[in-house]
Amino acid sequence: AYVAGGKAAREQFALWRSQPQFVYLDSAASCQVPETVLQAYLDYYQHGHANAHRGSYPLAQQATAQLEQARQELANWIGAQANEVAFTAGATHSLNMLAQGLQLDWQAGDEIVLSRAEHHSNFLPWLRLAEKHGLTIRWLDLDPCTGNLAADWQDVVTERCKLVAVTLASNVTGQVLPVAEIAKRARAQGALTIVDAAQAVGSLTLDVVALGCDALTFSAHKMYGVTGCGVLYLTTQLQAQLEPWLVGGGMVTEVTEASSQWVSGVQQFEAGTPNTAAIIACAAAARWLNEQREAGLSCYLQRLTHNLREQLSQRQWLQLVPPQSDSTSLPLISFFSSEVHAFDLASYLAEHSIAVRAGSHCAQPLLQFWQHTAVVRVSLAAYNTAADCERLCAVLDEAYQLFTEAE
Ligand code: PMP
Repeated sequence: AYVAGGKAAREQFALWRSQPQFVYLDSAASCQVPETVLQAYLDYYQHGHANAHRGSYPLAQQATAQLEQARQELANWIGAQANEVAFTAGATHSLNMLAQGLQLDWQAGDEIVLSRAEHHSNFLPWLRLAEKHGLTIRWLDLDPCTGNLAADWQDVVTERCKLVAVTLASNVTGQVLPVAEIAKRARAQGALTIVDAAQAVGSLTLDVVALGCDALTFSAHKMYGVTGCGVLYLTTQLQAQLEPWLVGGGMVTEVTEASSQWVSGVQQFEAGTPNTAAIIACAAAARWLNEQREAGLSCYLQRLTHNLREQLSQRQWLQLVPPQSDSTSLPLISFFSSEVHAFDLASYLAEHSIAVRAGSHCAQPLLQFWQHTAVVRVSLAAYNTAADCERLCAVLDEAYQLFTEAE
């Protein structure tokens, strides 16, 4: 039987046929795309391409049917209904759309609650909104040791809170936040909960009903799909409170010189020609990921991450961020050295065909919380092997020696 992960998975990615030695440890930024997903993308352009929802000829109807089938599949994949799923260009697009469009009768002094772990994409749209209406942003703090929510987080969500926007998992620490509990607390205070699942989607099974959120979004490129496509789950109650941010073709019923009437349902949030190929590829990626999970991918990655964490923590010159982590965190590890700058480490690794990311990872408030400006992040995905991790550690040791000797 097929066992997911490592060499067997790698055969499904063309990149390793041309560069068998390449060590890709940056899947938290974007995953590589398996051939079956690329084939779905190509098939659409070769045999099914037309403007969906526009034409009455068979090819256009086929494109529409494929798009709507992808909507249904992706809705099922996250435990939602098809009429609760809108397609966007990605998580950043979705979160801006929510911040710009939500009609919550904002009053000065109303509170928005975010966690310290937010990516800038789930911070800056709310910061701008707060500046516009005089809202107060309150933070769910983290435990500096584990990166989990601080014990007293519930106190931050008060009756003054109108909206909680939280990440399901941090793209820097990999910690998973207790979003179901947060949403429950928010609801009890009369507030909405919006979930940024961009980082979690590649690793966790999503269930919007169990999470109890009002909106949730993710990008296809972090779940082995292609770029330029995002999924935005919106309850029908939330849809009634959301004004379309983009207006234009495909989201209206009647337009005169002086007025327009919008369609009801999720299509009012999808102005313009949809990215049908990427949407079809996203559904194909969800199918592929399901197969991998059924064949044991999650266990494989947990083991690989655990072993790498052990190896890295043996190196006295490296410090992990956060220092402790639990087994539920995602397959990614961040670290820094007080002796060698994160950018030097990443550049040295890059020269040795190892791709990692160094910097603030679009989460500067989180790095400031630990008083860092840059950390190295390594992230693992289906195609990574134990050999990749060994190679990483060996080249990190070389880098450390080189940079400290040179001083
Ligand atoms: N939120 C989190 C937690 C992320 O990791 C990312 C991507 N790094 C985003 C939001 C933004 O996703 P995108 O760039 O695809 O819009």
